[in-house]
Formats: sequence, structure tokens, C-alpha cells
Amino acid sequence: MNYALELTSVSKVYNNHINKKKKRALHSLSLSIPSGSIFGLLGPNGAGKSTLINIIAGLTNKSSGIISICGYDQQLYPEKSRTFLGVVPQELNLDPFLSPREALEIQAGLFGVRKRERETTKILEKVGLSDVKNAYARSLSGGMRRRLLIAKALVHDPPILILDEPTAGVDIELREMLWNYIFELRSSGKTIILTTHYLEEAQKMCDRIAILNKGSLVEFGKTKTLLHRLKNKILIIHLNKKIVQMPNFPTTVIPKIKPDGSLELSFDRTVISTEKLIDICRDNHLSIKDITTCEPVLEDVFKLAIKD
Ligand code: ADP
Ligand code: MG
Repeated sequence: MNYALELTSVSKVYNNHINKKKKRALHSLSLSIPSGSIFGLLGPNGAGKSTLINIIAGLTNKSSGIISICGYDQQLYPEKSRTFLGVVPQELNLDPFLSPREALEIQAGLFGVRKRERETTKILEKVGLSDVKNAYARSLSGGMRRRLLIAKALVHDPPILILDEPTAGVDIELREMLWNYIFELRSSGKTIILTTHYLEEAQKMCDRIAILNKGSLVEFGKTKTLLHRLKNKILIIHLNKKIVQMPNFPTTVIPKIKPDGSLELSFDRTVISTEKLIDICRDNHLSIKDITTCEPVLEDVFKLAIKD
């Protein structure tokens, strides 16, 4: 497989020069991110997400380990590595007196993109900023600034785009627009690395995720595989008539009558099947109106992973 990013035993210790204390922020992380995928980095506050993102972006020094970006060792080829990355920081820091057009032109200049190779107009159009291309950045809304930061990260057409909390505090409409744009970038072959607080978002968008806790990798894999590993499933059976007597379910099933009268069955799907449970209900003459199931969600994976 072709990897956009490979980390081998990456560690980080922050040295506090004032109280001489050391803070271990990352413990020997190893992971590989295939090219052309969307990778989500999750974890509670203080887990080390920004530290890792900043190390990959070349903004913070690692203490040990190897980072390979598009096959190049970041330490041996710092400049080359930098050109492979487009980084969108979490803070909306933009020069207030530059217009989107100027901001992109300056960024392209910084990355040595030749004038005739620049795609300023096209990028502005893609992120929906054509109408305000000549306005001062300070007059742009939060959502527009976020899009401008993404546009800036893309001027040198990097194969990898890194976004730190791209949708934090962003309204639902813009969030969906950003999601679609990120999907579009993936289709064009780019690798997307993002951190997010929204587990639902990670579940929807990310092909692979890693969960960091206290600087250690506690989960890493395909989102689908991680979800599949969760054994618990919930079946909600809506009934035509109230239950008089609860059927005898196997002991591995936890039955509960919900306030609306429906029957909720929590069960381990590796031990008993949904069909079997429905059969038991029918055998006990329960008249079933409708059935809904709750599939495992990333939130459950997350809770399990970070529990002490
Ligand atoms: P996250 O982004 O997941 O919230 P961070 O990477 O910001 O986590 O922080 C990870 C840990 O490293 C935290 O305990 C934090 O206090 C510590 N840390 C972050 N930056 C520094 C720094 N510059 N100096 C010392 N400790 C830091
Ligand atoms: Mg952070």
C-alpha cells in the first residue's frame, strides 16, 4: 500500500524551563495513513492531538521517532516534506487587511508557486469565496475565514491536507459544505488528516481513525472495523398492545420497557441474532408493529477506548 504518512515510535517530551519539569505528551506512536484516505485523530482535551499535528506539520520538534511524509524522512528532507502538506490551523488567524485574493497570492509566493501556475481564481471559486475575493479579510464571517484558511493551505496543491478541528464552532450548513469539499478532495486523490471533537462527524467522514488518550494510541484502524468490533446492539420493538408478561429472554439479553410502551432489548450480537429475538417475541404472542435497531456508534468505541 502507498502511505501518505508513516509514524514510527514518535515521542514528545515538553521541557518546562521555568520549573524544570518534563511533560510527556506523546508516547511512542506508530501509525500509517494510506494515500487518498480521510484520517481522523480523536481524543479528549490534552490527549496530544495538536502536539502530533504540529509535529507532522513541522511546527513542533519531536523528541524521538521517525516521520515519513510521502516516503520522505521529515528530518532528512524538511523542505520537501513541507511542500507535501497543506495545514489549516484551528485558530482563524488571518491578516485583517489582506483580501482573499491577496492572501492566496502571498501564500503561493511563499511556497514558490510560479505566477502562471497559480490557480487563485479556481481555488477561490471552489471554496465559494469568488464574490468576496477583493474584500478585506476582517470583513469576512467566521465561516468565510475558515474557507479562506483551507484555500490558503491548497495553493501549492499539496497531496496531504491537515485540518485541526475544521468544523469547531461552524454552523451546520457550512459544516456540510466543508464535508462535501473534503470528500471531493479525497476523490481527487488527496489524503486528509483531521482532528475533530464531533464523533458523529468522524464516523461519517473518516475512513480510518486513531484515538489518543494521555499521549498514547489506544485505538487505530478502519472506522468500520472498529465499529464492527462493538458487540452490543439495541433492538427496539414497537408493539400494538402493551406487554402483560415479559417473555423469558436468554440471560445475555437485557430487556426494558420504555416509557412509550415499546420493548428495548440490549444484546450481544455475537451471542444471539436479531432474528432469534424476534422469534422469541412472536412465540410469546407479542404483536409487533415496527422494529428499529441502533447500530454501535463511534461514541461507544471512544468511551471504551479512553476508559481507565
Ligand atoms: P490536545 O490537542 O489533544 O488537546 P495537546 O497536544 O494540546 O492536546 O496537549 C497535550 C499535552 O501536552 C497536554 O497535557 C498539554 O498541557 C501539554 N502541552 C501542550 N503544549 C505544551 C507546551 N508548549 N509546553 C508544555 N506542555 C505542553
Ligand atoms: Mg488541540
